[in-house]
Amino acid sequence: MSQSTALRTVGFIGLGTMGREMAQNLMKAGIALRVFDVRREAVTELAALGAHAARSAADAAQGADVAITMLPNTPDVEAVVLGDVGLLAHPPTGRLIIDMSTIAPAAERRMHALCAAQHIDFVDAPVSGGPLGAKNATLTIMAGGTVQAFERALPFFEAMGTTVTHVGASGAGQTVKLCNQLICGINIQAICEALALGRASGVDLKHLREVLMGGSAASWMMDKLGPAMIDGDASAGFRIDLMLKDLRLVQEQSHTLNVPLPASALVTNQYLDAVAHGEGRNGNQALFRVYDRMTGHSVS
Ligand code: NAD
Repeated sequence: MSQSTALRTVGFIGLGTMGREMAQNLMKAGIALRVFDVRREAVTELAALGAHAARSAADAAQGADVAITMLPNTPDVEAVVLGDVGLLAHPPTGRLIIDMSTIAPAAERRMHALCAAQHIDFVDAPVSGGPLGAKNATLTIMAGGTVQAFERALPFFEAMGTTVTHVGASGAGQTVKLCNQLICGINIQAICEALALGRASGVDLKHLREVLMGGSAASWMMDKLGPAMIDGDASAGFRIDLMLKDLRLVQEQSHTLNVPLPASALVTNQYLDAVAHGEGRNGNQALFRVYDRMTGHSVS
């Protein structure tokens, strides 16, 4: 962590799967926390570990050097930043807001401009690495905003992640994250297809995965999600509904910019299929169930 910056207080808003772990890593780095979530039990859990339980996002930001948001989707971040009792109207004392959620790049640019007009630094800094990366403080963090704002945010990022990169102006962090997500989605789909073909051909799927992991088809997704796909374990991990949210953002951006992304469009529809069949709260690996239905086979 940079020695030049004294880290004092963070207002942390959004204590779900990712946020609760990231907040704890800030505390481990000696930073005082003021936490808020609409779920009171999430606030109580962090308060038991030493955080101050705030009553609202504005209360979390009060007296803080920085406010960090880790919320599900664009409307949630807009409500917390732009709402009547939001961070724009009640900024942290240090006038720095960092949004680490995955949301629309255009929304980040709008909030950045509104904050800049009030002399508040605003950084979009989505993450990759999942709940395990959040717990182990090994997240990959991709940040968009001014160089000056990024440098102010860097010591906080270093308490939560290991690969931290300033990728460009406001919104650029989200664009890089969406590129990450489209590769992840298409990769999961490719793994599903390989497993579906292997299964129909009577190949042992554990052996199939083991061999593929040793060759040029190996991937993070095959490593981390392959076993759960093969075992029919749909629980835990990055949720199907969050992945669909990200792929929708990819579609929106590609349509706005007239960039045809046919593979992304196909896998987005498969995630729609998964949600339509009630899989929204299951882990990403449950995309394999779409292939169960298409092929008439089942892992269980
Ligand atoms: P989550 O749904 O588990 O947590 C979000 C939290 O925000 C919840 O506790 C919810 O109660 C809270 N919340 C919602 N609206 C609020 C509001 N107005 N004020 C205060 N709190 C509010 O989601 P998550 O898995 O932690 O993901 C958070 C973000 O990070 C998402 O944008 C997601 O796409 C992204 N992300 C998730 C993962 C992952 O593996 N889960 C990985 C990388 C990025």
